[in-house]
Amino acid sequence: MKLPTFRGGIHPPDGKAMTARKEIEVFRPAGNLVYPMSQHIGAPCAPIVKKGDRVLAGQKIADSEAFVSSPVLSSVSGTVKEIGMRMTVSGGMDQCVVVENDGRYEYDAALLPHGDFRPLEAKECLRIIREAGIVGMGGATFPTHVKLSPPPGKKIRWVIVNGAECEPFLNCDNRLMLERTEPIVGGLEICMHLFPEAEGIIAIENNKPDAIACVQEEIARRGGNMKVVPHEVKYPQGAEKMLIYTVTGQEIPPGALPADVGCLVINVRTLFHIWTAIIDGVPVVDRVISVVGDAVETPKNFLAPLGTSVRELVDAAGGFTEEPAKILAGGPMMGISMRSIDVPVVKGTSGILALTARSARQLEESNCIRCGRCVTACPMGLLPSTLDRAVRLREYGEFETLGGMNCIECGSCTYVCPARRHLTQTCRDGKAGVMAARKKAPKTEGKGEKK
Ligand code: SF4
Ligand code: SF4
Repeated sequence: MKLPTFRGGIHPPDGKAMTARKEIEVFRPAGNLVYPMSQHIGAPCAPIVKKGDRVLAGQKIADSEAFVSSPVLSSVSGTVKEIGMRMTVSGGMDQCVVVENDGRYEYDAALLPHGDFRPLEAKECLRIIREAGIVGMGGATFPTHVKLSPPPGKKIRWVIVNGAECEPFLNCDNRLMLERTEPIVGGLEICMHLFPEAEGIIAIENNKPDAIACVQEEIARRGGNMKVVPHEVKYPQGAEKMLIYTVTGQEIPPGALPADVGCLVINVRTLFHIWTAIIDGVPVVDRVISVVGDAVETPKNFLAPLGTSVRELVDAAGGFTEEPAKILAGGPMMGISMRSIDVPVVKGTSGILALTARSARQLEESNCIRCGRCVTACPMGLLPSTLDRAVRLREYGEFETLGGMNCIECGSCTYVCPARRHLTQTCRDGKAGVMAARKKAPKTEGKGEKK
């Protein structure tokens, strides 16, 4: 039977065998924990603790009054050692709260388990989700209480769970579906409680038969309007627009949101946290991270407290077999190149990928040979080679006219390009160029005039 999928896309080697069968190991860090104030999309937080304060695991240490933001919670008990600027996984600097771990993992007694979500009103569920610091744990880091609050009048018909994990090398979501099935399906039940008229769909790539079986079994046990949709293995299947098209056939017009076509997409790890926050009273204090790549001695999947040093995790995986040519936070397609591993794990860190020079494909760019492979691969129907040319000529207006702002930065065009053109990077640069030009443009429109 032909499985559902989307147009375009690619089939890179998945590298998943390195950690697919490795059970999640609980990691306890020895060093200090570092918590950046911007671990989410939206307004950064500000510290609400000061140097010398004693903090407990699960205690809020930073927050913001903005709606689109998410608080930061301590993942250990200990003492605030410092508040200052530190490097983050992206290589940038951010204000961070540094906590000295006392190794006791004493939890904040103010964290309340609710045991059952059914008596709770939607408003109360959203409050708990916000206070628990839950964001899109697949890497998007968009605050979940905002995502679960679609604009008035938008009817949600499908709650789609992203269990695709199409990014090569990573196995966080796969292992979670196998080892924490109950809270994931339970988390979807809570979403169904918020959107009672919606159907719950868990979309999983067909290369994870064990995860599909586990989730199907749990759904059968619970009942309710939920089902699993196995789909074709293709990158970037986990991208929001591709997933929606694959499971519902709905296309999202440029500039529109999933809620405009009745959809809400949520990652499996995010569901796990929704469940543990509401049922057990445990906020986001840790996450699963795959530490992988041919430069890692013993690739593993860890459950690590947020704020843990990436270096400690690499050491726990046996260290490097040789000096890596490339280290990425995330997978090879959408991961961020890391300048240092002396940076903390944050909410969006799904993996650390360390590659040797043999596999890092460090080839120089050459001229475009007009083969058209990037066009065929682009899941958004764009012309990456033409966009690339426009950006290099700083023709940001043309980049915008050609739809460049719709690029989802999936990396498929760069992957297939035989000339090794840095097409995804030029799209990122093009989007930044358009945004900068918009900021600079004088506001000439009159009142009530449409742009
Ligand atoms: S142009 Fe953007 S959306 Fe299209 S393949 Fe390249 S990175 Fe992906
Ligand atoms: S894949 Fe590379 S070489 Fe081929 S058309 Fe696109 S940019 Fe040019």
